[in-house]
Amino acid sequence: MQRCLVTGANRGLGLAFVTQLLERGARVLACCRNPAQAHVLDALAAAHGDRLAVHALDVADAAAIDALPQAAAKHLQRLDLLINNAGVLVSGERFGNVMAESLVESFVVNASAPLLITQALAPLLALGNKPRALCITSQLGSIAQATSFRTISYAMSKAALNMAVKRLAAELTPRGIVVLAAHPGWVKTSMGGKGATLAPADSAHALLNLIEHAQASDAGKFLAYDGAELPW
Ligand code: NDP
Repeated sequence: MQRCLVTGANRGLGLAFVTQLLERGARVLACCRNPAQAHVLDALAAAHGDRLAVHALDVADAAAIDALPQAAAKHLQRLDLLINNAGVLVSGERFGNVMAESLVESFVVNASAPLLITQALAPLLALGNKPRALCITSQLGSIAQATSFRTISYAMSKAALNMAVKRLAAELTPRGIVVLAAHPGWVKTSMGGKGATLAPADSAHALLNLIEHAQASDAGKFLAYDGAELPW
């Protein structure tokens, strides 16, 4: 996993992935919406020289996704690991107050973007060393475990992401690219909140080990950060 691209890399779990990939010696393209405000990434770039480049990417911008392979090829030449991490959760949704724009934004960022990004980067992944694409999903996307209405836009979009991962695996496994969906646990980020049980560094560490050891037989699986298989 020497050549890696992470979306939503400026904070939370994405920043933990970048930090640990750099510690593992990787070359990283860290994508975020607003590089001018990504001060922690700037500090990491200063510490790691040209191994880290920061690239502006709003994953809701289809034209920016179209332009991504060129930027990735320039910094990485090939791609060993893609982490589709960027995500949004519209809080406070209850039956009766769900808004159309929340559904659309959640679908675009959480489901559509990982599919389009993986599709755009597939040729670069095909050049990679044991290439993998890790899509950060959520247990809330499990239809089998759906017991309440809350965070409906998020839950629906992550269920859609899970379907995208299964279909991508069908397409990309024969090309040697392992795609899987992983739930990071309940993580202390602005999305997870202070009451969450896992530090971002611990979740990122477990997920990087999980994807590093993933085999072709794991492609298309819906796993938790500890490797447990989750019900669809
Ligand atoms: P945060 O809210 O801390 O970070 C979300 C990241 O996604 C930020 O970097 C944010 O960028 C980025 N992002 C959001 N929208 C866009 C966009 N349109 N374009 C580019 N980047 C965008 O959340 P986490 O770190 O906790 O979440 C990371 C992933 O883990 C998400 O996919 C989330 O669904 C998933 N997850 C998290 C859980 C948790 O307990 N924390 C549990 C289950 C899943 P910006 O700073 O510009 O807003």
